Amino acid sequence: LNELKNLPLDSRTLLNCPKSGSAPIIRMENGQYFHLGLREGLIHLLQQYPYLQQLNVLPVWIAIDRIPILGHEFWPIMGGLKLDTEQILPFVIGVYCGNKKPGNVTEYLKQLIEDINHILDNGFELDNQIYNIKLMGFIADAPARSFLKCIKGHMAYFACEKCTEEGYYTENRMCFPDGNANLRDDISFCEKLQPEHHTGDTPLLLIPSLGLVSNFSIRLPTFMLF
Ligand SMILES: [Zn+2]
Repeated sequence: LNELKNLPLDSRTLLNCPKSGSAPIIRMENGQYFHLGLREGLIHLLQQYPYLQQLNVLPVWIAIDRIPILGHEFWPIMGGLKLDTEQILPFVIGVYCGNKKPGNVTEYLKQLIEDINHILDNGFELDNQIYNIKLMGFIADAPARSFLKCIKGHMAYFACEKCTEEGYYTENRMCFPDGNANLRDDISFCEKLQPEHHTGDTPLLLIPSLGLVSNFSIRLPTFMLF
């Protein structure tokens, strides 16, 4: 235990957070959220991998998942740069921790959405060079997607994220056997043309360039499987 006495009293010191400005720990429904920032994560990568500095536009994926540990739920928001190579360069944007999942998706995603929109509008500067991002899409499993997109869970009748077919329930699973139903697209999602698919208004619609159908994969991209 003696070694622990050298630890700073405040986790923010340990994590080397900026001391000015507002506190980076944000209390929210069911827990708290620690925001490191999209720009900060990208700057760290650019410094760590100088060859990235040849790029003017950084292709950014966002990955969100639930990690249950020690009776708590962690919901990290990760960024990932995927270049032409097989390699993906991950970085942490923010982490939620609580005794339950985040109670309010708008609150949970607020800082992320502000960061994305700010960089999409203005870029960011490092060593006299301006960088921008291309938002490639979101990566999340089905339960996380239903939370983020404010849509019915994958066991619901109108849950299919790619088409409007009404499923039927058999042997403890929901089936979508037809395959002939109208496909969903970003506009029909935005206009909630099939109200039964939705549970609310997702704050992700505040990101103008993000397609809530086209930029969400229902299978993990192959590069995530390695
Ligand atoms: Zn379908």
